[in-house]
Amino acid sequence: MAQYGYDDTPFLPGSRWRVHDGTRPQPKVVTPGTESSQELPGRPSSDAVVLFDGADVSQWVRTNDGGPVQWMVEHGYMEVTRTGNIQTKAHFGDCQLHLEWAAPEVVVGESQGRGNSGVFLMGLYEIQVLDCYDNLTYPDGTTAAIYGQYPPLVNACRKPGEWQTYDVLFVAPRWEGQTFVSPACMTVFHNGLVVHHHAELLGPTGHRIVAAYSQPHPPTGPLMLQDHGDAVRYRNIWVRPLKGYDEG
Ligand code: MG
Repeated sequence: MAQYGYDDTPFLPGSRWRVHDGTRPQPKVVTPGTESSQELPGRPSSDAVVLFDGADVSQWVRTNDGGPVQWMVEHGYMEVTRTGNIQTKAHFGDCQLHLEWAAPEVVVGESQGRGNSGVFLMGLYEIQVLDCYDNLTYPDGTTAAIYGQYPPLVNACRKPGEWQTYDVLFVAPRWEGQTFVSPACMTVFHNGLVVHHHAELLGPTGHRIVAAYSQPHPPTGPLMLQDHGDAVRYRNIWVRPLKGYDEG
């Protein structure tokens, strides 16, 4: 089997695996049980903050300069256009998040180069978006991985072009003054299957490093979507703030 990932990165704490270790076991491929209906699988509840309803991107800005979003918006979705990451004006702490995404139907590239994007809670903690339907990569960078830290429990990918869901229960990290109290925590469902069960994050997402909480950050942050150069689509994005919410 081809070698993916890196063999010169540091070891994850208490683990025999390195960051982005290509020899780490691949998550088992599981076909999600629910029908791949192209209807909206998770409509927002009455108490949800709707962040993207398929047409209106007024609650989002470009991450690099705060300017208006330049992703393509059509047919009820928005699509990455190589104009940079985008993020919400509102900031969230602990929350429940629902979103739907689709990788490009025309398959281009392999490993990390196929349908790469990402969902960053608080702008810092990434759940990987990648087309890993019949596409191997290093397990801590595969679809629905907590990037660089935890492979998903299973590979629940649908085919490129099909809509997929992420449902996330996120708990923000805590500090008291400069003293670190507790890590960020994520429970994640991919297409209805649990792929992370109360995973305690090592720190903000990084590449080729062991993540760490080097310094305190504010108790809320934006939801950020990554522009990794691939034409990934998003729709039906909503959040239920549980603790910590800034309307922005
Ligand atoms: Mg990514």
